[in-house]
Amino acid sequence: MANDGVSRRDFLRTAAVAAGATGAAGAAGALGSGPTEAQAAPATTMPRRTFGKSGIKVPILALGGIFDTPNNQLVLRQALRLGVTYWDTAERYGWGRSELGIGMYLAKNPTARKDIFLVSKGRSRDPKELTKALDQSLKRLKTSYVDLYFVHAVDEISELGPGLKAWGEQKKKEGKIKLLGFSSHQNMAACLAAAPKLGWVDGIMFTYNYRVMNTPQMRRAVEACHRAGIGLTAMKTQGGRSYSTDSAAEAKLVDRFTKRGFTPQQAHLKAVWEDNRIASICSAMYNLTVLASNVAAALDRTKLSAIDHELLRRVAAAGGYCAGCGSICQTLVSGGAPVADVMRCLMYARQYGDRDLARETYAEIPTAVRVRLAGLDYGPAEKACPQGVPIGRLMREAVRELA
Ligand code: SF4
Repeated sequence: MANDGVSRRDFLRTAAVAAGATGAAGAAGALGSGPTEAQAAPATTMPRRTFGKSGIKVPILALGGIFDTPNNQLVLRQALRLGVTYWDTAERYGWGRSELGIGMYLAKNPTARKDIFLVSKGRSRDPKELTKALDQSLKRLKTSYVDLYFVHAVDEISELGPGLKAWGEQKKKEGKIKLLGFSSHQNMAACLAAAPKLGWVDGIMFTYNYRVMNTPQMRRAVEACHRAGIGLTAMKTQGGRSYSTDSAAEAKLVDRFTKRGFTPQQAHLKAVWEDNRIASICSAMYNLTVLASNVAAALDRTKLSAIDHELLRRVAAAGGYCAGCGSICQTLVSGGAPVADVMRCLMYARQYGDRDLARETYAEIPTAVRVRLAGLDYGPAEKACPQGVPIGRLMREAVRELA
């Protein structure tokens, strides 16, 4: 087996280290008698990369905070112990409960704060409203600063007005943020391509996976940000759906990866990590099993082979994945419709299995828009969709499932 420098046995040992670390401390933590994070020795040496021109070294795996953090304090503790010290949250995750859970953890473990690269996000594009949102986030997080603050879910670069530059400078002076940037789930390539021109963007978190990373536009956009010293964090790296055993091609791919010693999900992470311009992958790790699996992939040095990449390219070429290019389809629906947002809600429900998050995100679409969604004609949008997404059927299913 050609494993480019590390044997499968090494990889399995790596997985065992991660799983053992989560398992042993997990049992103790569940009983409430485990060591505090200050007492616990780090279980792994997580690889780190420099986050843009900030010079800050961040772990290549980041803990996405879209889960019930108040009731899963053990995941936070074990993430820290496994070197996953980049924590991502947002004011809106769980209607603030994600931040509250991290705040609970920091209140009990105040010495941990200095080890964590803490990120939060605010929805507003208005500096005054962002100030309120940031202050509320800091209160929930029980900290005086975040390392990076994102303007959340930017679809078009024009949403980012000129006032944000001065706002960021002021908040840095006040010591409330160290870096400022934005996150993007839609039209990512266009947003990234335009970001260097703004002159204030320190970092971007954006949808980036084996399905979207190889388009010429995305390649150029990532390179432009990298050259400008903008730190890049990838999200949605699993590419939206599970593999089907009904498909011979997909079954073959699963079988190949399994023989190579990793899962398709770990292969998806590796595909992104092999792009060194990406500082970190932010992954929602709801439980210790997913945490252990992702940490094992981060520690493993096995590179994907040319055949592995080709197989992933074939899955990507088969389409059916909503790539967030809303500017293509949304203007073709009479009166407009937030197609990409609704597809993201469906992904939260069906691929992440997180119906609460799906419903919360869906509820952010104005009621007047939601009530019209099932009755709109999506035919022209379907014809234009480069991924061949059955938009009409999925929009109607979303209305039924998420209302
Ligand atoms: S439905 Fe198609 S065109 Fe619309 S955002 Fe998704 S991939 Fe792009």
